[in-house]
Amino acid sequence: MENARSLIISRFPDLVEAGIIRFDEPLSQHCSFRIGGPAELFCEPQNIGQLIALLDVALTNRINYFILGKGSNLLISDKGLDGLVVSTSNLNKLSHDDTCLSAWCGASLKDLCGLALEHGLTGLEFASGIPGSVGGAVFMNAGAYGGEIKDALYCSKYLIPDLDNLRSVDPVKHLKAEQHFFSYRRSIFQSGDFIHLSSVFRLRRGDPQVIAQRMQELEQQRWARQPMDLPSAGSVFKRPEGFFTGKLVDDCGLRGFQIGGAAVSDKHCGFIVNLGGATAADVLAVIRHVQKEVSERFGVRLETELRLIGEA
Ligand SMILES: Cc1cc2nc3c(=O)[nH]c(=O)nc-3n(C[C@H](O)[C@H](O)[C@H](O)COP(=O)(O)OP(=O)(O)OC[C@H]3O[C@@H](n4cnc5c(N)ncnc54)[C@H](O)[C@@H]3O)c2cc1C
Repeated sequence: MENARSLIISRFPDLVEAGIIRFDEPLSQHCSFRIGGPAELFCEPQNIGQLIALLDVALTNRINYFILGKGSNLLISDKGLDGLVVSTSNLNKLSHDDTCLSAWCGASLKDLCGLALEHGLTGLEFASGIPGSVGGAVFMNAGAYGGEIKDALYCSKYLIPDLDNLRSVDPVKHLKAEQHFFSYRRSIFQSGDFIHLSSVFRLRRGDPQVIAQRMQELEQQRWARQPMDLPSAGSVFKRPEGFFTGKLVDDCGLRGFQIGGAAVSDKHCGFIVNLGGATAADVLAVIRHVQKEVSERFGVRLETELRLIGEA
């Protein structure tokens, strides 16, 4: 079989020429941790047609693919990723209709919340400071300050990445809110069977001044409590039932614990930060050490919230 690179060049010469498909793209430039080796093939489709065509070629030729949002919840291997990384960055349209907002997967949550504010719609204030894309937020059921994506989401469109579906007359499918099977940092998208395309959020009319003030307050709280000035992937671990991760880690004496360029944040012990030049191996070593210490001392198993991508 042709190798993946020459196959993609021969099938999509225009996209390669236009820079929409690139080779050996450093993934450290596409994630908030600033860590990760190269993507063998990297593409930023500009529409659903291109996305489907790329997935079709990947599936037909057994080329692995990975869907990348804004990379704010990922630890990507130092070895990078074989196959195709599909960034949703260009699938980023937003629109407004009465009290509903529609967002494509690659739109940033920040822009979505900005649009809500612009139209005096309340219900997404909690999300205004969460980094990442709408697709990533739906995938993760992202949440903060008592709110979760599930509270505002009305419905979504998605693709089933198999050849029969991609080649069917209408490959775009619909999910109602309850069909997302949302729970704490979970959604049906984590089954790996679906690719999120867009969502509609149903909000309520509110006072723009009150909405803006709440967004500002939450932003200030983030800057006060989280290491926003250093590269990270947010909270590394899910919150274990009945405990606060940061306190468990702190009580183990691990504040500032460092391996290579990666360290438990001084400011918030639930975060691991890249102090400069950290590798994925450094971060993973810190994670394993924290998990071991917390388990031995408190008998609590810390499960990672960030997603480990590629070979460790
Ligand atoms: C400083 C900081 C603070 C943070 N604070 C919070 C917080 O308060 N609350 C919170 O919940 N999270 C928080 N996070 C984590 C992160 O912002 C969220 O998990 C976010 O929703 C991830 O979105 P993303 O676009 O970056 O997804 P990515 O990191 O790119 O991807 C995450 C997963 O989603 C999948 N994915 C992305 N798009 C699609 C798609 N269209 N279809 C199918 N799968 C897809 C990817 O394959 C991957 O498995 C924080 C992160 C940082 C860096």
